[in-house]
Amino acid sequence: MKVFVIVPAAGLGTRMAPKPVTRNKKNAPSKQFTELGGTPILIHTLRKFVASPEVSEIYVALRKNEIGRFRSLLESGSKEILKKKVQLVEGGEHRQESVGLALAAVSAAPDDIVLVHDAVRPFVTEEIIQDVIRAAQKYGAAIAGMPAVDTVKQVERTAEGAVITSTISRERVVLAQTPQGFRYDVLKKAFDEAAADDFMGTDEASLVERSGHEVAVVMGSPRNIKITTPADMDLAEFFLKQN
Ligand code: C5P
Repeated sequence: MKVFVIVPAAGLGTRMAPKPVTRNKKNAPSKQFTELGGTPILIHTLRKFVASPEVSEIYVALRKNEIGRFRSLLESGSKEILKKKVQLVEGGEHRQESVGLALAAVSAAPDDIVLVHDAVRPFVTEEIIQDVIRAAQKYGAAIAGMPAVDTVKQVERTAEGAVITSTISRERVVLAQTPQGFRYDVLKKAFDEAAADDFMGTDEASLVERSGHEVAVVMGSPRNIKITTPADMDLAEFFLKQN
């Protein structure tokens, strides 16, 4: 059994900009290229999967205009990443499209495992990677998730903000993280069905759920944050110093 990793890294990261309207799109780096301790976040993330003994190949989906620059960066300053087979593929307009394009480039057997991991979650641990691989082998589909600590409300958006329509029992909620891991045949079927139905989800598990396959949840970590806003960078710098 082989383990493939897909890292969608083709987002613009507009939520990283303090003022999206005035942001200089040409010069501002996408969030996955923002430096953390002097190294791009994406490199920190890739190191975790390069170091994981079971991972065979890594597919990184990038914006077309960033592929050349990132390849040079790997070849000049981050040769350790190239110890494993790393393929750079062109991403799409949405995360799902980016993952789908990378998946199309993967040549896997039905029972190989495909992990999908956000480029902007550099604090994933070997333990979480291993747990997701094990659970994906056992159940066909598994994600890392965290129990909710806050009370979760369903809302209806209004012009002023939102009003609550119901309260969701906290015991029945987990917050989805990545890695999300699947048997190749399970993930491929889910992507094919979503494409046929024009369904767009915000993670891979949602596609697999609607394709009728159960998805197991293993414990993630509160440190496995998705760096999304400038405030997350402060927390990330703090976590990095503790590593
Ligand atoms: O924007 P979002 O929080 O959904 O991004 C999650 C991950 O998906 C990021 O690593 C981002 O780079 C990636 N992404 C992508 N292609 C897009 C949009 C997002 O690979 N078109």
